Amino acid sequence: METKVLKIDPIRPDNLAIREAAGYIANGGLVVFPTETVYGIGADAFNPEACRKIFKAKGRPSDNPLIVTVASLEQAQEIGKIPEERLRAIRRMWPCPLTFIVDANRELPREVTAGLNTVALRMPAHPVALELIKAAGVPIAAPSANLSKKPTSTNAQQALRYFDGKVDCIVDSGPSFFGLESTIIDLRTFTVLRPGPFTIEELEKAFGERPKVGDVAKGMREVDIALSPGTKYKHYAPDTPLFMFDGNADELLDIISEIDEIPEFVFVGSAESCKKLSETGCSTIALGTSKDLYEIAKNLYDGLILIDSMKVKFGVVEIFNEEGIGLAIMNRIRKASSHNEFKDTEGLRGLIAEAPKPKQDSTI
Ligand code: AMP
Ligand code: MG
Repeated sequence: METKVLKIDPIRPDNLAIREAAGYIANGGLVVFPTETVYGIGADAFNPEACRKIFKAKGRPSDNPLIVTVASLEQAQEIGKIPEERLRAIRRMWPCPLTFIVDANRELPREVTAGLNTVALRMPAHPVALELIKAAGVPIAAPSANLSKKPTSTNAQQALRYFDGKVDCIVDSGPSFFGLESTIIDLRTFTVLRPGPFTIEELEKAFGERPKVGDVAKGMREVDIALSPGTKYKHYAPDTPLFMFDGNADELLDIISEIDEIPEFVFVGSAESCKKLSETGCSTIALGTSKDLYEIAKNLYDGLILIDSMKVKFGVVEIFNEEGIGLAIMNRIRKASSHNEFKDTEGLRGLIAEAPKPKQDSTI
């Protein structure tokens, strides 16, 4: 299949180009499109065959349901029962990087809900996404645009690497604004299932009630009986083994200073930590300043993708403060590293001492 790449201005989307992309959706095809969180891979949510193609293109397990994106509250209400008492707040906050789990109120393809009687609804705050959904005339089922288990695309170039020849069209509207997937909240129990750019603090303010946040949402543990089925699968992982380091750059430097040769690993973290480590000859991937966690979030997936191109034995990733969007950052980092963490210096020293490699530095 030939994949058409359509460049569309993110602020003032061209009507003709939008209609062209929407045509693929209406005809049962797949379109990768931008949202304010990450790129999504979309199909007509009412067309089971089209939705099945999403699973095939991503290599996604069939028991992992899809998020349905809509262009209005009315369209959302045709599909799901939004609790009466939450409507006022939702009217005020939509569109935004927030996905609601609600009871489904019409029959949806099994592919969309994975057989659950609930549905995940989101109205993306991105002009191109909204215009595309409107032009398609149907809700668009759209999980994140990544191959299953791999870091998500936050730009069209990465989406093309994953999906060239597997989707009908990729809309290129430049980099995503947030760089991490939407926050998912179960509106029936008011529980956050996945943290994202819409923070716990913002949820509390918008709804006047603090949501429940379990260990699963923090990415602290995996579950077999999934609250949100996607949370039980390996996610966002580079091929290179990744380890979290529970300490600061100075502590890591102390360990490195005891080793004669430059170790064959790459450090992924804040620009400040990378600067310190780079001066001693370590390879680094700087995600942005530690003073702006939104910058770190925006660059995280690109950083994880870059690790594999560095051909090092392993990566070491910094642990960030879990306030605000930091909770979502750490959720993704815990998953990307399969929960591998150094609690003491001995384990890290053992790995670092393995083999020397030339130094490489990158800034995103
Ligand atoms: P993705 O957009 O690829 O990040 O995947 C969508 C996420 O939404 C996955 O983690 C799904 O498990 C979750 N999800 C979709 N529908 C539901 C639902 N009805 N109940 C709980 N989680 C859901
Ligand atoms: Mg995903």
